[in-house]
Amino acid sequence: MTVWDDLVGQDAAVEVLRTAAGAAREIHAGRDAAPGAMTHAWLFTGPAGSGRSVAARAFAAALECVRDGEPGCGECSGCHTTLGRSHPDVHAVVPEGLSISVAEMRAVVATAARLPALGRWQVVVIEDAEHPDDVSVTIRSRCRLVSLRIPPAEAIADVLRRGGVDAETATWAAQAGQGHVGRSRRLARDEAARARRAEVLAIPASLTSLQACLDAADHLVRAAEGEAAAISIELSTGETEALQIALGAGGTGKGTAAATRGTAGAVRELERRQKSRATRMQRDALDRALVDLAAFYRDVLLVHAGAAVPPAHPDFADDARSVAARLTAPGTLQRLDAVLACREALELNVKPRIAVEAMTAALRLP
Ligand SMILES: [Zn+2]
Repeated sequence: MTVWDDLVGQDAAVEVLRTAAGAAREIHAGRDAAPGAMTHAWLFTGPAGSGRSVAARAFAAALECVRDGEPGCGECSGCHTTLGRSHPDVHAVVPEGLSISVAEMRAVVATAARLPALGRWQVVVIEDAEHPDDVSVTIRSRCRLVSLRIPPAEAIADVLRRGGVDAETATWAAQAGQGHVGRSRRLARDEAARARRAEVLAIPASLTSLQACLDAADHLVRAAEGEAAAISIELSTGETEALQIALGAGGTGKGTAAATRGTAGAVRELERRQKSRATRMQRDALDRALVDLAAFYRDVLLVHAGAAVPPAHPDFADDARSVAARLTAPGTLQRLDAVLACREALELNVKPRIAVEAMTAALRLP
């Protein structure tokens, strides 16, 4: 097992990162390294779910790996604590709102300038820099770019099987996840995620009245809220407990009044960040539903075209046929456009309910 194992179908990127980690080790040891193999700033790009955070974290672990041999053993304390998010020299920056503020960037720069406490390098991982504005042209030009591709379904199925998922479910989940590794993993393992997907994909064929459109919009927004809440409560509880333990609160209660006030402030700060993360997660959950819907309308177009291409949602092929019987090909294209327009509106921070209601109204069947 190495730190690269969770990067699915990204052989080219892994090769670049392994070479860089090897060069970094030479540099740290004061030896000559292959020129240009290692640099101080890296930008991971690729479609959602391709593994940008996983790649960045794996690379950080390889840089902090303390075992001889190829960096990134996955077993030493450096690898372990980095992957487990507790290495003192590996810092994660998660944008507070939907993008990174100047103040946050200043803090990053200050952190990066310190000497490592324990490890070999100070590493700052900036996560969820989803929006193009987060990464200015200037920053881009100063970073080494690592482009991740959409992992092939077979590679995703393979990693699911290795994780103990049965072959049939793995193949289905890899297909249904449409190149999003985390999504495929949830579909393979989480009954609730499967049920949510099925509810989303049942929507197009059900939109026969305005009331049905409004109901569907309401359902989509609530389901996204629920999904985000479930994940974020799970994450947040652990974080809050960890912080309270770190600050000595909640234990024997021996802290002074001043320490308690400081603790409360830190907990409030954490809660504020958790809330902003929950907002992002809700948008992500909604976006996943829209990706499923867009793929459904592409399947409908395939029916119109009589194309012998496997559908994205083979288990909803009957629905795709029945919707195809009620829509013309141009009518189907209009609906696909409506789904994509909704995604864009959400990216522009339009309120989810407004954007989704506009979409479902446009999806109504004649
Ligand atoms: Zn290691």
